[in-house]
Amino acid sequence: SRSKDIEVLRGHIRDIPDFPQKGIVFKDITPLLKDPETLILTSRLLLDPFKDEKVDLVAGIESRGFIFGTRLATDLNAGFVPVRKPNKLPAQKISVEYDLEYGTDQLEMHRDAISEGDRVIIHDDLMATGGSAKAAAELIKELGGVVIGYSFILELGFLNGRAKLEREIPVHSLIEI
Ligand code: AMP
Repeated sequence: SRSKDIEVLRGHIRDIPDFPQKGIVFKDITPLLKDPETLILTSRLLLDPFKDEKVDLVAGIESRGFIFGTRLATDLNAGFVPVRKPNKLPAQKISVEYDLEYGTDQLEMHRDAISEGDRVIIHDDLMATGGSAKAAAELIKELGGVVIGYSFILELGFLNGRAKLEREIPVHSLIEI
């Protein structure tokens, strides 16, 4: 059953206290990636909510969003486009700045990553504050794309990242914490 599958995934996520800084509990997905059964199970469960949708592109957020983002794209017969940290993309690009607890961060996409009207899913391993997902959505919209959904393995529900995102767009997370 789906709830049993989710419990199996949950058992393959490791808590690392005080990484990368004191007070943060880092959710480490490497045990889930290492086990061939949970590796395939994760991609199957991520596909489920979107399998009957028409999707042009999956936008994966650097860097753990690249792992299953590409798989989700191939499973949907869609393309994959990277949403990257500053100064990584080589061609013409657009940037968006967003607030962190201390200071700001930035995400970038190539100008030709999206065509007008493209239907795009945003994927990352984890949503915390929702800041990066929101920034990715802004980039996609600026390039003329239509965000049709958000896809995460984990969601830190207590941070209420969903409140930052547009209410009409569905958010699918496999595991809520
Ligand atoms: P946010 O923009 O706050 O939603 O943060 C999401 C990004 O930060 C994602 O790319 C996550 O991989 C990473 N991240 C934030 N908090 C954690 C955490 N507790 N464990 C692992 N990754 C995290």
